[in-house]
Amino acid sequence: MRSHYSSQVTHELEDEIVILCGWVHEKRDLGNLKFLVLRDREGFIQITAKKGVTGDDILEDINSLSKESVIQVKGKVKLNNKAPNGLEINPSNLKVINESNSPLPLDVTQKVDSDMDTRLNNRFMDLRKPGVSSIFRLRSAIINRSREYLKGEGFIEMCSPKIIASASEGGTDLFPISYFDKEAFLAQSPQLYKQMLMGSGLDRVFETTTYFRAEEHDTRRHLNEVSAIDLEMAFIESEEDIMQMLERLVVEMIKTASSCKKELETLEWEIKVPQLPLKRFTYDECLNLLAKEGKEIPWGEDIDTEGEKLLGKLLQEKQGIELYFITKYPLKSKPFYTMPDGEKYSRSFDLCFKGVEVSSGGQRIHSHNHLVKRIEQHNLEPENFEYYLKCFQYGMPPHGGFGLGVDRMMMQLLDLPIKEVVMFPRDRHRLTP
Ligand code: ATP
Ligand code: MG
Repeated sequence: MRSHYSSQVTHELEDEIVILCGWVHEKRDLGNLKFLVLRDREGFIQITAKKGVTGDDILEDINSLSKESVIQVKGKVKLNNKAPNGLEINPSNLKVINESNSPLPLDVTQKVDSDMDTRLNNRFMDLRKPGVSSIFRLRSAIINRSREYLKGEGFIEMCSPKIIASASEGGTDLFPISYFDKEAFLAQSPQLYKQMLMGSGLDRVFETTTYFRAEEHDTRRHLNEVSAIDLEMAFIESEEDIMQMLERLVVEMIKTASSCKKELETLEWEIKVPQLPLKRFTYDECLNLLAKEGKEIPWGEDIDTEGEKLLGKLLQEKQGIELYFITKYPLKSKPFYTMPDGEKYSRSFDLCFKGVEVSSGGQRIHSHNHLVKRIEQHNLEPENFEYYLKCFQYGMPPHGGFGLGVDRMMMQLLDLPIKEVVMFPRDRHRLTP
């Protein structure tokens, strides 16, 4: 159907016949001269029809064609320094494959801005804008690179169930669903499953996964359906091994994003690749830094959104740091499976990117008795964790891991609200399309 994408039509193809397929992006009629801009996945190309040269049927078709119709054009490549990219196609054949209705639900040429709701309601058309599709090409590139990278590090890709019988961690709200005659829930995280695999001999696993979180957020950085890279690895000395894996992975992702030249040009955006190793700040150090700025957080409490932002700004302005770890969180703020570090602290960390948490992780408890004790201390019932706990009685190696939000990474990489970087976002108010 198509011999070339627009980007493959170069000056070397002068006078050659090519066949292109795509959408009618724009039309211009100068009487004897008619221009049509064809848009395909890779870009744009001008189709130029002249009265007396181009067949009358083609001229008529161009006249009557509606914007965004799907067409196939066959024609000769001609150099013309007035045309975009310095070349155009003189058509010998134009086939209207499928006509578009008019008016359009939104403007694809980006001359008129649409509000976010209109854009998301018509996402199929919003994605025709090169600026929008660039976001998702870049996203695909970093996910592909993450998979490659982790496979290179000996990780096996797993797939945990998304329908579960009960809360995996306690805390986060779950979406209940009906499962035949029982109640079930959508999984908020693969946490317990990836840990069980640490006792299976598959001692390095990862998942490109979805978290379902029934939290009633309405923020720039929360959704109710989240994409993430979740990982667990065994035979570690401490959480430092996990942080090293995470920082290398994230820098690989950023490097990959920075090499998406065409997409970044379209988005008019630049990406700086951070140097390894990343800086580590303890929770206590962060509280001190914030206190100096007049932001008091009582010891043991989460660093709230305002605190996270302020810390991000501080580190960026004073030390030029965009990506950093916060380590040694208070034990009482962490889930039961978190490995304690003394009485008060835990072997856990967050990775923050420009003042927003993009990942949480740490070392986990691997002793059965210790784990049971911690479950009880969290006022949870060990009986509800029977299948999980069993794995810890028959040879569980020391292990740890992290969950890395892909949507969060994308929004911080491109400085966009989270809904811009998710194709079909799910939030408090949006369930379609
Ligand atoms: P936050 O405190 O920012 O709400 P969290 O600590 O509840 O996040 P985790 O359970 O640690 O989130 O999940 C691991 C990662 O998954 C987070 O660091 C973040 O990148 C991503 N993530 C979690 N919940 C959401 C959400 N509701 N929307 C977008 N990303 C999320
Ligand atoms: Mg977290």
